[in-house]
Amino acid sequence: MLNGIEKTETKALEPLIYDLGSPGRIGVNLPDCDVPESDLPRDLMRDDLKLPEVGELQVVRHFLKLSQLNYAIDKGFYPLGSCTMKYNPKLNEDMARLPGFAALHPLTDGEGTQGALALMHELQRWLGEISGFEAVSLAPAAGAQGEFAGILMIRNYHLDRGDTQRTKIIVPNSAHGTNPATVTMAGFEVIEVPSDNRGDVDLEALRKVCNDRGSEIAGMMITVPSTLGLFEEHILDVIEMVHRVGGLMYMDGANMNALMGIVKPGELGFDVMHYNLHKTFSTPHGGGGPGSGPVGVNAKLKPFLPGPIVEIIEPAQAEDETPLYGLVMPEKTIGRLKAFHGNFGMHVRAYAYIRIYGDTGIRDVSRHAVLNANYIRARLVDTYTIPYPRYCGHEFVLEGRFADAPDVHALDISKRLMDYGIHPPTNYFPLIVPEALLIEPTETETKETLDEFIEAMKRIAHEAKTQPELLHDAPHSAPVKRLDEVKAARDLVLCCAPALPNAAGD
Ligand SMILES: *Cc1c(COP(=O)(O)O)cnc(C)c1O
Repeated sequence: MLNGIEKTETKALEPLIYDLGSPGRIGVNLPDCDVPESDLPRDLMRDDLKLPEVGELQVVRHFLKLSQLNYAIDKGFYPLGSCTMKYNPKLNEDMARLPGFAALHPLTDGEGTQGALALMHELQRWLGEISGFEAVSLAPAAGAQGEFAGILMIRNYHLDRGDTQRTKIIVPNSAHGTNPATVTMAGFEVIEVPSDNRGDVDLEALRKVCNDRGSEIAGMMITVPSTLGLFEEHILDVIEMVHRVGGLMYMDGANMNALMGIVKPGELGFDVMHYNLHKTFSTPHGGGGPGSGPVGVNAKLKPFLPGPIVEIIEPAQAEDETPLYGLVMPEKTIGRLKAFHGNFGMHVRAYAYIRIYGDTGIRDVSRHAVLNANYIRARLVDTYTIPYPRYCGHEFVLEGRFADAPDVHALDISKRLMDYGIHPPTNYFPLIVPEALLIEPTETETKETLDEFIEAMKRIAHEAKTQPELLHDAPHSAPVKRLDEVKAARDLVLCCAPALPNAAGD
């Protein structure tokens, strides 16, 4: 991995498939026509459709090469903090592709869907068990949508009791960025509380907010472990303070990868939490989905869950029988968030994952995730500034800057890592750490891989001081060099087709 990192020319990008064609080449042999020929309606036909004429092998090679330009967890280490880019066992994919699951039409009636409903029911139960919640809805399609569901439930809980004054939600400044966004989208106002010098919630600031504005507080949203990778040391005090003034507690549980089998948020006193199946429970993510962000709740919020959820309609009559499952909308539901039943393919993958690991295996996942993060942290502590020098959860943050190399920034370090064949960590997040690099190794990596990463980080720190231009010009080995990231995000070009005249001909 560390070889071949001399400065190299940027390779030419693959030619567009439109430039590969040659008139008369064909990719498929169609069988002889065995029905009477008839003309297509003239107004549907176009003479100017510039599609390439290519053979099958050209198409296969073209798309395989394109796919190899992408970086992926199946190619190498991916320590992208907060995103939990762990390896997704291929067995989960096989399970999700079983025809009985993959080809099941969402409008199939109850009798024809009992197997799928049983799987969803088990998954609801297991997720509830892992986090200590009474009920779970699998409906939300992403973590952020689970957050939105959770805050709407809190809203409706207060309104249902005739309590209409609660318009504010407390969010610590170490929260994930989706948390304040969710609060605002759900129509609440954010009250931000600062962190103290250990990276925990500043209890004095929180106490003041609760004392001064208690009757306006609908609840608090807190990410645990926080985006600093730290487990909140005063979590019981925080929960108690907010509950005392009548607010409910939301836990952002996207990072359950650090907590499974070790601590149950429901037992700590949280009222509602979302899970990210596409992080912790090994369903693939990136490139925009699909995801799954189930929500778990205690008895208070159970009637408000988004629907439908799976319930046992008729218990089994004998031991060798199965119960009858059905889809129900909870009594005071906030409604539907998604067509049909959520992203069912993700439910199958998460079910397979939990089932294969079992309870002790799931606990080991978290223990190893935490061990791996602490191993890297401990071995980099002499090379980089680590702002909160204490045990971390599944990830930790360091400062990507050096007093004796003032022109080098976190972004340069990240780009240089690509030359070592490693995906960059999360950059400039969390916002409360200057030049932040958020590193999450996950439990699926070997010690050898962690050591290679540590070695690369140390070599880059040395290069920063001796050959900073190596970092400034990086990446040297990627298909494209350093991008204008603002332009890449704002003027995204999604289609490589040459400009075609539109149907109106102008
Ligand atoms: C990833 C993440 C989210 C958002 O999840 P999406 O599925 O991307 O919407 C929320 N909170 C935390 C802490 C996360 O890591």
